[in-house]
Amino acid sequence: MEEVEITIIGAGVVGLAIAAELSEQYENIVVLERHDSFGQETSSRNSEVIHSGIYYPQGSLKARLCIEGAKQLYEICGRYSIPCKKIGKLIVATEQAELSAMEELSEKGKINMVNGIVLLDKKEVDKIEPNTNAIAAIYSPNTGIIDSHSLMKHFLNMASDRGALIAYGSEVESIDKEENGFVVAIKQERYRFKSRVVINCAGLAADYIAALTGIDVQRSGYKLKFCKGSYFAYAKPSPVKMLIYPVPHRKLIGLGVHATLDLGGRLRFGPDTEYVESIDYKVDINKRDIFYKGALKIIPKLEKDAFIPDMAGIRPKLQGPGEETKDFVITNETEKGLPGLINLIGIESPGLTASPAIAKYVANIVEEKSC
Ligand SMILES: Cc1cc2nc3c(=O)[nH]c(=O)nc-3n(C[C@H](O)[C@H](O)[C@H](O)COP(=O)(O)OP(=O)(O)OC[C@H]3O[C@@H](n4cnc5c(N)ncnc54)[C@H](O)[C@@H]3O)c2cc1C
Repeated sequence: MEEVEITIIGAGVVGLAIAAELSEQYENIVVLERHDSFGQETSSRNSEVIHSGIYYPQGSLKARLCIEGAKQLYEICGRYSIPCKKIGKLIVATEQAELSAMEELSEKGKINMVNGIVLLDKKEVDKIEPNTNAIAAIYSPNTGIIDSHSLMKHFLNMASDRGALIAYGSEVESIDKEENGFVVAIKQERYRFKSRVVINCAGLAADYIAALTGIDVQRSGYKLKFCKGSYFAYAKPSPVKMLIYPVPHRKLIGLGVHATLDLGGRLRFGPDTEYVESIDYKVDINKRDIFYKGALKIIPKLEKDAFIPDMAGIRPKLQGPGEETKDFVITNETEKGLPGLINLIGIESPGLTASPAIAKYVANIVEEKSC
């Protein structure tokens, strides 16, 4: 039976970043992707925001890897000419009742050591962004936007140039533990091979992949819940030049309907949060009113007719509706009797921002030989 050193399941931004990082040190790496190309799922269905790390609990992987990842992304973009823009972000309080939550959030950002965030009063907000309803805001100058497709292409090219094999049309259907590794079977090819290390970056199917290895995903807390986020495009010139967010729900279910811009200056609102049972990317036109009202809360004078259903993405969440936010799971499974298996589960936002830092974190796990 053929043998490889490392198998990475999933060619989304996380799997590709890991492939790029590991291929610097290891030979004989294969990336398995069930689609015919990379980034066909969540990695191309998101806001493409380089987050600064304000929102996440202190010391969590989400906070640490987001802050490190953002720094690394700006460096990568500069060095390899990947389109990105530090356009800045305002988290706007629009009523008195939101001020204390806004101040708490700003404190959280400072504790997380987020660079450059400041609190602005109404006058100061109006000076830099006159078309919002803010009575005060948190200003995050280091938040930006990135072309996620170009980023993935960069990771892919780097991994391929260093000898990693990217196998499309390769859906993993079984993983069996053997001495010193795993036997991985691919559905389409009826092909089986042995791998010393298996890294599960399967996004929305990461719990399914974990279950293939015999892990009880319910008991381990790995069962994913799908949380859909729909977007409406604004088919008129944007009245704002920064990303505008409301003060989020304390349990951080989502960030609230917010205004994002792409690199072409196109304005979109979303994503909202809707727990769903199955994967379906259709945007419900009947949500227009809700989006319009949500958007009006942060930006006045928008035209309802200009709200056009755009796209949707699905978050792989570890927490169900109403539950406290949970951290990324990034762990080797030695304690579960599966040394050599590294699971990445619940890689929702800020997974794009964190991707290069996640890759280094995983490389350390592989290097420690703890797997
Ligand atoms: C609406 C929305 C908005 C977001 N906005 C942002 C943002 O602005 N900034 C940010 O930092 N993050 C954001 N995120 C989060 C970010 O998009 C994700 O964290 C990131 O894309 C996850 O990448 P991934 O590689 O883990 O998963 P994916 O991109 O889902 O890749 C997983 C891959 O695994 C493959 N796969 C699955 N099962 C198998 C199998 N059996 N065999 C072979 N291959 C398999 C899939 O086909 C897929 O290509 C957002 C997410 C959503 C949903």
